[in-house]
Amino acid sequence: MLPSFLESVLQLVIRTSTDLPPDVRAAMKTALGTEPADTNAGQALTIIAQNIDLAVDVEGAICQDTGMPTFEVKVPVGANQIWMRQQIREAVAEATRRGKLRPNSVDSITGKNSGDNLGPGTPIVHFDQWEQDEIEIKLILKGGGCENTNAQYSVPVELPHLGRADRNLDGVKKCILHAVWNAQGKGCSPGAVGVCIGGDRTAGYLHAKEQLFRTLDDVNPDPRLAELERSIMAEVNDLEIGAMGFGGKVTLIGCKIGAINRLPASFFVSVAYDCWAFRRLGVVLNPSTGAIERWLYRDPSHPIIPMLDQAGFTRTGREVRLQAPLSEETIRSLKVGDVVLISGRMFTGRDAVHSYLMKNEPPVDLRGSVLYHCGPVAVKSGEGWHINAAGPTTSIREEPYQGEVIKRYGIRAVMGKGGMGAKTLAALKEHGAVYLNAIGGAAQFYARAIKSVDGVSLLDFGTPEAMWHLTVEDFPAIVTMDAHGNSLHKDVEQASGEHLEAMKI
Ligand code: SF4
Repeated sequence: MLPSFLESVLQLVIRTSTDLPPDVRAAMKTALGTEPADTNAGQALTIIAQNIDLAVDVEGAICQDTGMPTFEVKVPVGANQIWMRQQIREAVAEATRRGKLRPNSVDSITGKNSGDNLGPGTPIVHFDQWEQDEIEIKLILKGGGCENTNAQYSVPVELPHLGRADRNLDGVKKCILHAVWNAQGKGCSPGAVGVCIGGDRTAGYLHAKEQLFRTLDDVNPDPRLAELERSIMAEVNDLEIGAMGFGGKVTLIGCKIGAINRLPASFFVSVAYDCWAFRRLGVVLNPSTGAIERWLYRDPSHPIIPMLDQAGFTRTGREVRLQAPLSEETIRSLKVGDVVLISGRMFTGRDAVHSYLMKNEPPVDLRGSVLYHCGPVAVKSGEGWHINAAGPTTSIREEPYQGEVIKRYGIRAVMGKGGMGAKTLAALKEHGAVYLNAIGGAAQFYARAIKSVDGVSLLDFGTPEAMWHLTVEDFPAIVTMDAHGNSLHKDVEQASGEHLEAMKI
């Protein structure tokens, strides 16, 4: 068998998780240069840029959500695909052991995390044969936050702010713009979309995701689709959703559209949204040894150019320092748009913790605390734990529970990304709490603001879902929902909806 195959796949997984491809870096650098540095979106992009640099420096996961590993493999006729699949699974498990991938494979019925990223359906491996005498493996790591913003439209369809989308390219354009508008910052914008016109529902989503294997700067060989991609990119940033949905000039860094045949009765438009942490690389392997012959999307002989020339996140002097635990008076003095720097004790809690807190007393005293929606990459270190990636997760999933949890346990700040809804907004006002938006995907940046891991509760839920007890220092976030009934998310959604209407497609 191929003696270097396993090591080559392992290198592919590690590099994909820790180093963004050059085309994505270039697009993010352009975004960074477009947004004024002293805006919320500008500060978010600076943190993202610093995070990208940090991840390469320490070979750490760019984002703590290392996503669903999806491999597209092309093999010469006669290659043993059963053996290769097994080797790919071993490489994924090893990358997880090394803390380069977060354990992300969860039993859909029991909720139990397999701990090694292996299980029915994970990782995803697609094989194709080709006539060439080489093995090509491409990998994309697409996280849950952006996966949850994917959309599929059965056209004709009535769309808010856009009217009816018909079975033509204008209708397709409306669907794509609606998907981007609907995602707001929840998929960690600025993002990129892969789109499929046609197919059945299953093939449509698959083909949409496959478009994300194209480079951001390529030109569609089909002139009709090239024109559609161009027109989307020319207009989409007028929505002013901006980085993280804070409002701003850059909402999308790429739009890649494919078309496959459909049944006469069906017309699906499938949109796969990927976040700025657009992790996609590939390798070509020697068919006799499995050694890497060359990389796809990157040239290792070219040095990696840092995203930032200098120190990184620079403070404006207007930041508000918060020392947890927090008082109601302090919290009520905050307003939307304030940038805060948190120091002191913080607890993580996401889906499993919120569900637990609805039925059980918390394992720690949460009064005055900051509850961080985060599923970190945590690695055992001697008797203790080390957290090496710790960005926020999408908060809206906790909307059914959050207000009640704030009320029962006296939490003063919940922090995550993408904002929350009307129920939480009302609870913030009534009970004196705020929602803080941390910068989605900035896992390396935030891991450095964690000064110690003081304990962990509910570890049975698996490391991403456990409640981690952290001490943090100068942890930056932006107040996007305050205790006075204001929500930046609501405002941006409304304003971008008005922009959509003004486009008159
Ligand atoms: S950057 Fe955001 S959307 Fe992307 S994987 Fe990370 S948390 Fe999820």
